[in-house]
Amino acid sequence: MGDVRPHVVRSAGSGEAEAHAYELTQVLAQIGEAVIVKDLDAVVTFWNREAVSLYGFSAQEAIGRPLRELHAADLSEADYARVLARVRAGKPTSSAADRRRRNGETIRVALNTAPLLDIHGQLVGEITIARDVTALRRTEEALRAAHAKLQARLAAIRDANDKLTDEIAARQKADAAMRRNNQELAGTVRQLEAFHRDGEMLSRMAELLQSCTQRDEAYAIVRETGARLFPDSSGSLFIYRESRDVLEQATSWGNGPAADATLGPEECWALRLGSPHFVAAHGTIRCRHAHADTASYVCLPVQGQGQVLGLLYVAVDVDPSSMRPARDTEQRLRALTDRVGPALANLKLRDALRELALRDGLTGLYNRRYLEDALSRELHRAERGHSPVSVVMIDIDHFKSFNDKFGHDAGDFVLSAIARTISKSIRPSDIACRYGGEELALVLPDASLDIAVERANHMRLVIQETNLTHLGQTMPAPTASFGIAVYPANGTKPADLLKAADQALYRAKKEGRDRVCVAAETLPT
Ligand code: GH3
Ligand code: MG
Ligand code: MG
Repeated sequence: MGDVRPHVVRSAGSGEAEAHAYELTQVLAQIGEAVIVKDLDAVVTFWNREAVSLYGFSAQEAIGRPLRELHAADLSEADYARVLARVRAGKPTSSAADRRRRNGETIRVALNTAPLLDIHGQLVGEITIARDVTALRRTEEALRAAHAKLQARLAAIRDANDKLTDEIAARQKADAAMRRNNQELAGTVRQLEAFHRDGEMLSRMAELLQSCTQRDEAYAIVRETGARLFPDSSGSLFIYRESRDVLEQATSWGNGPAADATLGPEECWALRLGSPHFVAAHGTIRCRHAHADTASYVCLPVQGQGQVLGLLYVAVDVDPSSMRPARDTEQRLRALTDRVGPALANLKLRDALRELALRDGLTGLYNRRYLEDALSRELHRAERGHSPVSVVMIDIDHFKSFNDKFGHDAGDFVLSAIARTISKSIRPSDIACRYGGEELALVLPDASLDIAVERANHMRLVIQETNLTHLGQTMPAPTASFGIAVYPANGTKPADLLKAADQALYRAKKEGRDRVCVAAETLPT
């Protein structure tokens, strides 16, 4: 806005100028914006029609009165002082402010001011163009409120979203935890099932082992159970020999490298230490019997009745850091040895008892009851195989005189020495027993009469060479008489054959002792 010279608005006196001022006044009245002119004391000098409708004061009311009494009535002293300062500063300004209408209503106005200069360029007042922006402000406020609301809403949504994201994350975490839990549970169930299966298998094995009457049966059961408990690993069971200087492989499973058939107790750390020995792949403290120097394995002593009976050797995985197999594997290994040990000890005990029941205490030969059973078995076999069986009765000659001359102990010594001599000169398949007193009997399966005679004569000669030195005294060389009967020529039943052999022995005695006689009915071929 350009400067407006007051003389243009105010009547200057000359007719032409007055006309011009009048025209200008009309222009200012029609301009469409409130135009207010005031002097340096803010006293209104011009107030157009728009100013009337904006502030409600008529031109008559306004002109000649300071703003303080008009629309600036509500301003604080400080604000009004600022208005006065602005007017007197003579600088164009642009602002928005609250003003009061005549009826007390507050309105918002946008103000543009320009200094009013006189013809000499002297500041004499201020021209203000005011526009009602109350509605605009309300719209703006509404907009701001809407914006704030929107922001708040957005913030709430963002909050909710964050919460939701958190919830989803928490849910996912919970889901993952649940899945993990489920997996763990499934693992535990699987483990329990396996444990149960193993337990059943092991109980079944223990049950079977208890009903075993022979070691071979027991070993077969251990092999099968071992193969089922450790299907991916080979294993072997070694058992101490009676002499306890060596262990023999009793059974094995799996197709790993074949273990040695025997091993010395000093070749195994588990046997030396008396506790399980675990070796990881490439482990250095290896047993000498474990040849594959890269594979992992375990050795467990098998114990029963307070004695180490053998060794279980299984090629399972062993963790190189913990130096242990997997927990369930170790449990299975221990469960297996824990059950095999006592079962084998039982069998051993049973064997010992059976031996005790079948053997004669003095000579170590079988007793008469065993001989009769064994003879009966051999006769059945011979019948099926159409093979001969010879029965030899042996009686020590003048045995009474040993007792009489050297004492009963010496007699016992003679008896057991001759029994040893006879045991040494028979085959493993032959059966030697103490038939009673100083009378012995032999069953020679597959031996024909000729062979039996030959072998009896051989024994007769060997008996003569038996060294009989007892407690420092040397006794005279013993002799014995032999009676032989053969199946089927002299009988088909044990009793008949024994009787026939006894009769032959009686003849041998009668004919002078230290000789071999065959049953009468039989003719030498
Ligand atoms: P023969 O040549 O006729 O067989 O004469 P013998 O002395 O061997 O026969 P006899 O039947 O007269 O005597 C057998 C003796 O064997 C009688 C018995 O005291 C003795 N005897 C039987 N069993 C044992 C034993 O376990 N220990 C000892 N020391 N003597 C026994
Ligand atoms: Mg005799
Ligand atoms: Mg006799």
